[in-house]
Amino acid sequence: MSVERYIGRLAPSPTGLLHLGHAATFWTAYQRALQHNGTLLLRNEDLDPQRSRQEYVDAMIEDLAWLGIEWTLPMIVQSERIALYRAAFERLLASGHAYACTCSRRDLAQMTQAPHEETQADQPGNVDDEPVYNRKCRPATNSPAQSLQENTNYRFRVPDGEAITFIDRNLGSQSFIAGQDFGDFLIWRKDSLPSYQLSCVVDDAEMQITEVVRGADLLKSTARQILLQRALGLQTPAYFHAPLLRDEQGIRLAKRHHALAIRSLRQRGLSPAEVLKMIQV
Ligand code: GLU
Repeated sequence: MSVERYIGRLAPSPTGLLHLGHAATFWTAYQRALQHNGTLLLRNEDLDPQRSRQEYVDAMIEDLAWLGIEWTLPMIVQSERIALYRAAFERLLASGHAYACTCSRRDLAQMTQAPHEETQADQPGNVDDEPVYNRKCRPATNSPAQSLQENTNYRFRVPDGEAITFIDRNLGSQSFIAGQDFGDFLIWRKDSLPSYQLSCVVDDAEMQITEVVRGADLLKSTARQILLQRALGLQTPAYFHAPLLRDEQGIRLAKRHHALAIRSLRQRGLSPAEVLKMIQV
């Protein structure tokens, strides 16, 4: 009998304290790795220079361990791996998949306000999602590859009208239309850092992740990431999107971050078992 090798990951961003929603997703990731007799790696997604803080890195490690989640060391730290992301970005640029975008924050904010861009926040995959880019800076098809300029944002050109389909191991068949459900997305930022989409794809491949477990708010990002994997010639892992936790009013728990921080519950005297019961996983 052949046994499928399983490598999963926990990928928290140290921009705040972990809350119940994170606990649910990370506990699911831990259970999936256990069920598959697999390995679980911890990746510190600390690429947001304004919001990432060392105290949150320490807190997330402590809170995950307190919940009883175990992972294999060493921890992967994204801020130490910029050269890897940069190499991938340069390949995308050389192969004509990326273009410079000089739109200002104001241009982009105006796109957000366009009524037809309104998303239905309750649809999985639409939560907190970025608006479809209006292609203002997109060069004509078959234009030569652009050269690299520092201090510039770059976007990935999506294949308009193409359905990106994948089978989610939890939610079943998913399909998003490139150019409609999501547009040309940022891959490289003017502060010389990769976007989440690019760093995630590069790391999932480099860490040889076989299954990505994460929240259903990232379903559309999975479609974007599949396009990046294709353009970079990387394997697509399996995906398992966990449902988002909501309170009695239907509000996402992520929005009530502070009150439901694992740390606050712990300080109020709850045990890990009681916290896990709250998320019923
Ligand atoms: N750091 C991301 C987050 O906290 C993780 C996304 C992922 O699992 O791909 O939302």
